[in-house]
Amino acid sequence: MDFDYVIVGGGSAGCVLAGRLSENASVKVCLLEAGGSDDSAIIRAPIGAVVMLPRAVNNWVYETVPQPGLNGRRGYQPRGKVLGGSSSINAMVYIRGHRWDYDHWASLGNAGWAYQDVLPYFKKSENNEVVADDFHGQGGPLNVAALRTDNPFQQIYVEAARELQVPINADFNGQEQDGLGIYQVTQKDGERWSAARAYLHPASSRPNLTVITGAHTTRVLLEGKRAVGVEYRQGGATKIARAGREVILSSGAFGSPQILMLSGIGDGAELKALGIPVNHDLPGVGKNLQDHIDVILAQRSNSTDLFGLSFAGIGRMIREFKRYKTESRGMFSSNFAETGGFLKSDPNEPIPDLQLHFVVAMVSDHARKPRLGHGFSTHVCVLRPKSVGSVALASPDPLAPPKIDPKFLDHPDDLERLLRGFKFLRRLHATPAFAPYRLEELFTAEAQTDDQLRDAIRGRADTVYHPVGTCKMGNDRLAVVDAKLAVHGLSGLRVVDASIMPTLIGGNTNAPTIMIGEKAADLIRAAA
Ligand SMILES: Cc1cc2nc3c(=O)[nH]c(=O)nc-3n(C[C@H](O)[C@H](O)[C@H](O)COP(=O)(O)OP(=O)(O)OC[C@H]3O[C@@H](n4cnc5c(N)ncnc54)[C@H](O)[C@@H]3O)c2cc1C
Repeated sequence: MDFDYVIVGGGSAGCVLAGRLSENASVKVCLLEAGGSDDSAIIRAPIGAVVMLPRAVNNWVYETVPQPGLNGRRGYQPRGKVLGGSSSINAMVYIRGHRWDYDHWASLGNAGWAYQDVLPYFKKSENNEVVADDFHGQGGPLNVAALRTDNPFQQIYVEAARELQVPINADFNGQEQDGLGIYQVTQKDGERWSAARAYLHPASSRPNLTVITGAHTTRVLLEGKRAVGVEYRQGGATKIARAGREVILSSGAFGSPQILMLSGIGDGAELKALGIPVNHDLPGVGKNLQDHIDVILAQRSNSTDLFGLSFAGIGRMIREFKRYKTESRGMFSSNFAETGGFLKSDPNEPIPDLQLHFVVAMVSDHARKPRLGHGFSTHVCVLRPKSVGSVALASPDPLAPPKIDPKFLDHPDDLERLLRGFKFLRRLHATPAFAPYRLEELFTAEAQTDDQLRDAIRGRADTVYHPVGTCKMGNDRLAVVDAKLAVHGLSGLRVVDASIMPTLIGGNTNAPTIMIGEKAADLIRAAA
């Protein structure tokens, strides 16, 4: 089990690295993934997300510690546990964030990460079927497509936005992010286009790439200050994969800091308290957790163009299943969050600070509490929350879930932005465009005054699935990796995934993580 590169985690970033590094036939690459194969209809068919989101199907189904800001509730944290990682279970919305986010990363001292530096990597990764201009790429592995659902609620939503005088945006990844509109999705011919589909499957027959599934990595092996391999568990056995050049952790915002800490790399005092020998004191590991806090306005409806449980809905689903099998179109190709966009919660904001996801279903507790009937739901989240949390080890047992504490709504500013956002959602759902389809508001109808709304938000808000920042890039005391994504103070070890983001970007995090993988592949090749 000797390789040049050992990549830990076959998610959005790990698949990019496995695909790109193995392009060089003279290097041996190993990809270790704790989950299984992604050869599954519920991954390929976009509708399958509704099976995976609420339960432990290709999903780590993590929970947070009780959150005082959420009235003491535990948040839910689904994460992909399968080849493709979270890109195999996510909602497929293709968004890059705002150019400001990357210029901000560079201004924090991260040379090479300004918008003009990362744009070529977004384009390199992309095969955009919808837009061909200076902002987009064609011919890359990640297919970006228009939705094939033909759902009338897309136009109803756009009409509602027009009625509120909100600009309609045809491309949130182009010149301007502001406005509402229809999302582009990481799909091809109506199927999910995960990072595995884009980067790993085309590389799978290469003799220099070894992909090992069911391999739960437990620690990085160090010789002095150099990483030389990893230890992993597979089917009850403990095994070793050695890396002649580099170990690359791509286990995501929870997995990567967890593996570092299990390896004795982290806050020395915290590790000692758990009885873990300290190999490298690096206090920032697991700190700086940032996530998009989100609240939903859900509305019951009379329309079977919306997903729901009813006799008419079942009949519709049978017809839609046949349609999907013959045309790869219709409701089975839905990513659920079909429309949305970016808004300023206050006109004085320089750039949008809120994002909307309009879901063609009634959403309650991450689809964990299905309800009878049909409906629609609009999410609103705070794009750059000021609350900052952490992920830590709950125990020295490498198979135990980590202790996730996002500190949601810890900072009062986040609550005030959500409040302004929620009031906008009420106005959106109250437009004439929605009137023929709108029945009663669910869950939050009683809340009318600002204080009642604040309490309702604390009672219902949770993640919209974008945790980042727990192995942040930078030069300050809490930085874990440098601008080349090498772990400070060690050699032969990098972190490449959403955890390296120094600050949460203003948008969904899959395309940015794939961009990070593309850029890292060039950095790693340049160092060889
Ligand atoms: C339900 C959901 C919906 C989302 N919707 C969208 C969306 O619509 N658009 C968007 O842009 N983003 C979305 N995201 C976010 C996006 O998918 C993630 O930010 C992105 O996939 C993160 O990539 P990553 O490489 O950092 O981690 P991941 O893709 O999560 O990959 C980490 C991989 O490491 C593996 N791993 C972890 N620990 C170990 C270990 N100890 N040993 C071996 N392997 C390990 C995991 O099993 C996983 O495969 C969503 C996420 C979720 C969960």
